[in-house]
Amino acid sequence: MESTKRGWGRIVVKVGTSTLTAGTPRLNPPRMVSLARQIRELTDRGAAVILVTSGAQQAGREHLNPSGQHKSIPFKQMLAAVGQSRLMSLWERYFELYDLTVAQILLTRQDIEDRLRYLNVRDTFNGLLQRGIVPVINENDAVATDEIRVGENDSLAAMVANLIEADLLILLTDTDGLYTADPSEDPAARLIERVQTIDEGIYQLAHGSRSGMGSGGMYTKIAAAEIAVHSGTTVAIANGSRENVLAGLLDGAVPATWFPVHITPAEGRQRWMLAQSVIPGTVYIDDGACQALTELGRSLLPVGIHRVEGTFSRGEIISVRNGSGREIARGLANYGSDDLQRIMGQQSGRHADILGYDYGPEFIHRNNMAVI
Ligand code: GLU
Repeated sequence: MESTKRGWGRIVVKVGTSTLTAGTPRLNPPRMVSLARQIRELTDRGAAVILVTSGAQQAGREHLNPSGQHKSIPFKQMLAAVGQSRLMSLWERYFELYDLTVAQILLTRQDIEDRLRYLNVRDTFNGLLQRGIVPVINENDAVATDEIRVGENDSLAAMVANLIEADLLILLTDTDGLYTADPSEDPAARLIERVQTIDEGIYQLAHGSRSGMGSGGMYTKIAAAEIAVHSGTTVAIANGSRENVLAGLLDGAVPATWFPVHITPAEGRQRWMLAQSVIPGTVYIDDGACQALTELGRSLLPVGIHRVEGTFSRGEIISVRNGSGREIARGLANYGSDDLQRIMGQQSGRHADILGYDYGPEFIHRNNMAVI
């Protein structure tokens, strides 16, 4: 069993619908009360906890009791709109039993990826956590169209972990973690207690696992773990039906699959950039600039750029690619694409002459860059 450190600062706990229903057809109050109590135990140990909860659609379904199977997105959005407030009122009531105040935050991908919204959301989280309030997060299903949806809460939880720079992300599910084979079919299957590197082989194991590809299956958990460990958050996948699983994880007393973190805290400020899926522009750089970035830890100057793609403004995150088109970095553009078109390939001293002003010699300052 992975031994764990004491005193985790910020912990994101993600619970899916199957954990909340405890294998029954309905949301299960004893299970939810137990989770609230366990989260209280974590806060008593000094952690700040964020809960990412599914179950809105389930709560809507329980209330409306629709006949038959409905798979359409508008129908699910309707269920979520009915169910979210019901889900939330349950959490409110159960956390109050343990003297904890909760706050609802409903997010979409856009809220996390847009730089200004991101800064706002992060401020909100920080304000809540400083006051000992437990933010309770779900996707804003009622308004999230395909383009801005995360789609499932494992990824949402990883994005939230990244946003608030969590130390630990706990993904609760209905097995103890990732197995070498499906334990219900193969008696020799054993739990993998530690995944140092998430590679193809790990994804294949997840693929073959009972919960498979489906929303919230093991595959999405591995994908979420991959985002998290690369942005500074340790991940544990554990069984939500085990008694006292949360404190047990911190004590190393329950079985789980642990994914140790891959970066140092100093790299933490870069974490958000790498989590972006929509990048408005790309610059292509020459070999010298490439070497300066990857080997010498330097900033990217316009002189090393030979092609610009896309339209972007100063301050937006853009992608940096080498001569063969491979993405090697991301960073905040110091110049918009129109300006860059005019100064690329030029020495820094010429920028003001060409543009009539300059924002400094760098196109992307080292401090605002994430090298991949
Ligand atoms: N946001 C959905 C709900 O609350 C759940 C998504 C998921 O389970 O991953 O019903």
